[in-house]
Amino acid sequence: MIDKASPLSKVAQTINPSATLSLTAKAKAMKAEGIDVIGFGAGEPDFDTPVHIKEAAKKSLDEGFTKYTPTTGIPELKKVICKKFKDDNGLDYEPSQVVVGCGAKHCIYTAIQVLCDESDEVILPTPYWVSYPEQIRATGAKPVIVETSEQDGFKVTPEILSEHITLRTKLIILNSPSNPTGCVYSKEELEAISKLLVEKGVWVISDEIYEKIIYDVEHVSIASLDPEMANRTIVVNGMSKSYSMTGWRIGYAAGPKDVMGAMSNLQDHATSNPTSFAQRGAVAALTGTQEPVSQMVREFRNRRDFIVERLNQVPGVHCIVPEGAFYAFPNVSELLGKSFGGEAIGTSARLSDLLLSEAKVAVLPGSPFGAENYLRISYATSQSNISEGLDRIDQWVRSI
Ligand code: PMP
Ligand code: GLU
Repeated sequence: MIDKASPLSKVAQTINPSATLSLTAKAKAMKAEGIDVIGFGAGEPDFDTPVHIKEAAKKSLDEGFTKYTPTTGIPELKKVICKKFKDDNGLDYEPSQVVVGCGAKHCIYTAIQVLCDESDEVILPTPYWVSYPEQIRATGAKPVIVETSEQDGFKVTPEILSEHITLRTKLIILNSPSNPTGCVYSKEELEAISKLLVEKGVWVISDEIYEKIIYDVEHVSIASLDPEMANRTIVVNGMSKSYSMTGWRIGYAAGPKDVMGAMSNLQDHATSNPTSFAQRGAVAALTGTQEPVSQMVREFRNRRDFIVERLNQVPGVHCIVPEGAFYAFPNVSELLGKSFGGEAIGTSARLSDLLLSEAKVAVLPGSPFGAENYLRISYATSQSNISEGLDRIDQWVRSI
């Protein structure tokens, strides 16, 4: 509810803190106090940034590459991003169509800001990444939450979408591979969605940040399917996940020139350029050996196989096999019907609180992702943590 006496703007009053960042901070603080918590909250690879990337950044610091750069990134980085889009996604962009920002999160924020007006509607299929609804609300636009089902692999279909597209629909945010479900849209599924969106004149932000963290299936960018779709799509990607560079804060977006120009103008007045020497690190990441990426994905796959099998052994829990990203998204609806301390558990938030206080395991509730009957468990942590954490969950669940 809006409090008229508050010094805060109406928009600021609608913005919630990030559940992912809050839980990660809470688990870290508990560990710092000496409490033995297993953290499954963090959405960041637990591997170090590859050495050649760090060396490139160190070298640029030593060379004095410490000044402002062009707002949307150094030409060298924008050129290699264009090459990456061409080689990996079959997308043709010129450097003027690329904006490098302070993380993919920042690029998505800027894109929504330049695309949406107050009365616009933005379609957000569930389960969604926690920051999308808040970023949409930050423009004054309205998130239109569209439910998907586990039976459909948590994917939205043209049939469902067409029920929600109105004259006010400006945009849809698609995220494949998905955080939190790990679902990946196939080419055929995207073609069907693209056909509808082109017909209805809806824009797309395609968040492809987990592109490289994918198991046995192919990643397809919706922008590659049809030039008309490309003309209405902002593709977002970044260094955080593929190259284990979360703290470097380098993400990028590409799309039609006029939109990218507007993003550049807004970024001029918001952050200016992303960090100069981090950009040099990003060049090294995109042009250097990709072996560390493959190694990381191999390790994630082993963990995924283990965690999904182990979760399915916990009474009252069932978990589909994610095809990408590094999250398991188990269905815990049966557990919500159980009681603890004489009270029904009831919500995923209470279940997550109880798992933290009673089992000393930090997992995210499904509710901030728009999916109440689920938990999100990041397996971006060591195999021994996963094993111990799952034992704790299992024991606690069997004890209630
Ligand atoms: N999109 C999704 C789906 C994410 O999970 C994240 C997680 N950090 C981001 C975007 C933002 O990534 P970053 O800002 O670190 O590039
Ligand atoms: N995206 C990650 C997550 O979902 C990192 C935290 C964040 O930025 O939300 O956990």
